[in-house]
Amino acid sequence: MSTMTGLKCRECGRLYPKEVVFVCEYCFGSIEVDYDYEAIRKSLTRAALALRPKSLWRYRELLPIEGEPTAGAFSGFTPLFRAERLAKVLGVSELYIKDDSVCHPTLSFKDRVVAVAVTRAKELGFDTVACASTGNLANSVSAHAARAGLNRFIFIPADLELGKVVASLIYHPTLVAVEGTYDEVNRLCAEIGSKYPWAFVNINIRPYYAEGSKTYGFEIAEQLGWKAPAHIVIPAAGGSLITKINKAFKEFRLLGLINDPPPKLYAAQATGCAPIVNTIKQRSDIVKPVKPNTIAKSLAIGNPADGYYATKAVLDSGGWAESATDDEIIAAMQLLAETEGVFTETAGGVTLAAAKKLIEQGLIPQDESIVICITGNGLKTLEPLQGRLGQARKIKPTLASFEGTFSEQLSLMAKR
Ligand SMILES: *Cc1c(COP(=O)(O)O)cnc(C)c1O
Ligand SMILES: [Zn+2]
Repeated sequence: MSTMTGLKCRECGRLYPKEVVFVCEYCFGSIEVDYDYEAIRKSLTRAALALRPKSLWRYRELLPIEGEPTAGAFSGFTPLFRAERLAKVLGVSELYIKDDSVCHPTLSFKDRVVAVAVTRAKELGFDTVACASTGNLANSVSAHAARAGLNRFIFIPADLELGKVVASLIYHPTLVAVEGTYDEVNRLCAEIGSKYPWAFVNINIRPYYAEGSKTYGFEIAEQLGWKAPAHIVIPAAGGSLITKINKAFKEFRLLGLINDPPPKLYAAQATGCAPIVNTIKQRSDIVKPVKPNTIAKSLAIGNPADGYYATKAVLDSGGWAESATDDEIIAAMQLLAETEGVFTETAGGVTLAAAKKLIEQGLIPQDESIVICITGNGLKTLEPLQGRLGQARKIKPTLASFEGTFSEQLSLMAKR
């Protein structure tokens, strides 16, 4: 039984059937999935959830599929943990990390959206899936489409990190490296998508795909013991994750699953690609495209599809935004690793660096609950760290060589 009633234009509210519709024919507004919340209220209760498997599909009434899920059975319900050591460094009292860099098949939050997109693409009868990607989506679509036995065309900018390229190629997709920015890749894909009958997960089936991001927000609420944190710091590329975390808390409040006021949301981007952060800081509603130049390639979208909605969600929530330079990103990646044992990719460095700056400026208060969204794994973005973390000390395979090399450190430790 599906609780998805249909599709709806975000601007004029016009209704559409549950098919492949991604722009409103009347006003060119973007399209969103609509649900029967009265029916959902009856089945999606805290008691019912307590008995369900710990995957993202536990919230299936709020996800846009009609039959059984066929992808991502083991994704979601990633760790949310109290970050005491990091909290001390940042000078805050209640800090949590929601860690999507682990427990997912391709080690990023994109495994949430792709689980939903691939399930829905199969339901809609597609035999080929495709995407325009900044890297993580490429990995995730490649993997999930392989397992689903679908053809896969993956489009990326030609300058991506080796880890993102190899971690796509292993699933044997048709990997297309486009000589251009992500925004050029995306434009090309829109053109290809209008000619070939493929499911472009983040273009023509985007309304379904994007709903998968809500599960990140649902889990924050459930894992905090059915509470909303006061503040959530969220990385932004196309801006979809921000809008969907916002929707997640709205839906849980609507269904009576949580009662707290909605969290304040903060957008984090790299200084070298900050169209959404710039718009928020100007309290504007016009997102001016930029040309990306940053080590945070997974966030390097200069013309974000959901920039307008992300800006609105952040400002309406009472939150704010901050950007981080390349050096700040690397320092934050190191800080997270040294304090909490979490190795995140550059995007996670962006989020932590932005959170740190927001706290230092007093824009996020020190004594309220804060969640930092870590969305991808550091093993995929090794390049910017190379040569910046010191080196292993080389020794001969003898005790004498070991003690000779480390004599100072060993005697210091002995004195303590
Ligand atoms: C794609 C991505 C994001 C942001 O996603 P949007 O929904 O496009 O804003 C954040 N972090 C990582 C690691 C990503 O790959
Ligand atoms: Zn419309």
